[in-house]
This record gives sequence, structure tokens and C-alpha cells, in this order.
Amino acid sequence: MNAETYGFRVGNFECMAVSDGTHTYAPPAFPPPANFLFTNAPGQRLEQALLEHNLQLENWAEWVSPYICLTVNTGEHRVLVDTGANGLGPNTGKLLQNLRTEGIAPEDIDTAILTHGHPDHIGGNTDDEGNSVFPNARYVMWKDEWDFWNSEQAESRLDEHVKEVLLTSARKNLPPIQDQLELVDREMEIVPGIGAVSAPGHTPGHMAVAISSRGEQLLCLSDTVLHPIHLEQPDWHAAVDLDPGQVEATRRRILAKAATEKALVIAFHFPFPGLGHDVQKDEAWQLHPIETTG
Ligand SMILES: [Zn+2]
Repeated sequence: MNAETYGFRVGNFECMAVSDGTHTYAPPAFPPPANFLFTNAPGQRLEQALLEHNLQLENWAEWVSPYICLTVNTGEHRVLVDTGANGLGPNTGKLLQNLRTEGIAPEDIDTAILTHGHPDHIGGNTDDEGNSVFPNARYVMWKDEWDFWNSEQAESRLDEHVKEVLLTSARKNLPPIQDQLELVDREMEIVPGIGAVSAPGHTPGHMAVAISSRGEQLLCLSDTVLHPIHLEQPDWHAAVDLDPGQVEATRRRILAKAATEKALVIAFHFPFPGLGHDVQKDEAWQLHPIETTG
């Protein structure tokens, strides 16, 4: 399998998971992975949950997180969900090159949906000169999210050790798209077959995206969950989740919806291509990753 792109269909829509690269989260810059991803998990249950995923608490020294973006060609619209993590690390910023390999030029994208304002989701908005990379795109973002990053709130609510990285990226990647921007403040259709889903918590205006064609559903979870264990333990939040209580409520609502609809789900930090089915298990859920061959 080509590990950079993965094409699949949702009804009539041609979809593709596109890698922007990876980033390694490890001490000293970050807490050990288990503490970073599951900050409030009780020790013994954490150890057990990790073992079920072939991870050992003691030996899990680094989390190599994929950064995944999604394209959807509806026939009428060429949509990109998130623009990757350009500038964040040595192995990021591969989105454009991977799109070009698949015959997609930046000019072809007419709709760019930004799920939230973290640097690994908006990093490809602008080039080194600060110009918008997708000149023909209508950018769509949740209003609360835009307001958060453009207010004093971000300054006061963000953790000291990540604040600088987050604010630097937001200041570089958000103002240049302002003329192309449309803000949504309710669940609505963005283009036919693709809808905005409110999913706050990870950030104040974090958005999931519902994609449906001919009775088939894909729910883009973005960072509603960062690791498959979050489906099993929706109350275990990550250090980068801004509002833990809201994160859990959002996860429960969205994971229940995806399971009921038997939707395919994609999360942008799961192992590439980030796709699977969200299956109800007891009081929570479990990810059944799709089988990729080739
Ligand atoms: Zn992210």
C-alpha cells in the first residue's frame, strides 16, 4: 500500500485520506504518551487498556502521531478537510506534494473545511510568504473556533508550555484566509452531501464533518478522539483537550451517532489511513479498523 494516500468511496463520492506526515510526541517536550493522551486514567485500568492494544505502560516512550487530511470529490465540489501540520516538525508538510502526486493542484480545491485551529490542522493554509495556499477555496470554520483564536481567550486559556506554538501558528495561518472565510454557527450543509457537525471540547469550536452519498456515511471525527482507546474510554481526555467535560459529552453523542448509522469513521491521528468502524461495546465503543490491502 502507498502509505501517503488511501482512496475509497462513500456512495458516489471519491474520498482520499492524505498523509501530511508524522510527528513524534515524547519527553522532554511532551509528557510520556500515556500521560499525554490519557491524563486522568486510573493506573491499573490504563495498564490493562494499553495491553489490549499491545502497548506496555512502562515501555511506551514515544507516540508517533500521523497527521491525516481528507479530500472528497463529490463530482460537483472538490473538498479538503484540514490542511496539515506544515511547519510543525521535520516530517510534516507533505500534503501538497501528496495531492499533486494524485493529480490534485491547490487551485482545484473549492472548499477547505477547517475542523479546528490547532497547528496540525491549519498548518497548510499559508505558504512561507504568508499567502493563502488554496486560492480558489471557500474556507469553512465554526464561528466559536475562529473567535477563540482571534481573541484574548486563547491567550488566557491555553497552557503555558504549548501557548507559543499554538498562537504562532494561528497568527500565521488564520488572518490570510479571512477574505475566503465563511463561518458556521449551526449544523448545516456546507456543500451538498457534506455537513458541519458541532463537536466542541477539544477546542471551543471543534467541528466534525458528516459526509453522505447514496445512503453511505463517513463521519470525520477529526480530533474528537486522538487514539482508538478514546472510543473505549470516552472519559479519558488528552492534555491538549481544552474542556474535558465537553470532550466526553461530545464523544458520547458523536460515537453513538456513528455506531447507530453504521458510518465509516476517520480520525486524523489514528494509524494511517485513520479509517474504521465505530462499534458499540458495553457502555462505550470500539474501533474496528478497515482492512487495507495492496
Ligand atoms: Zn490534531
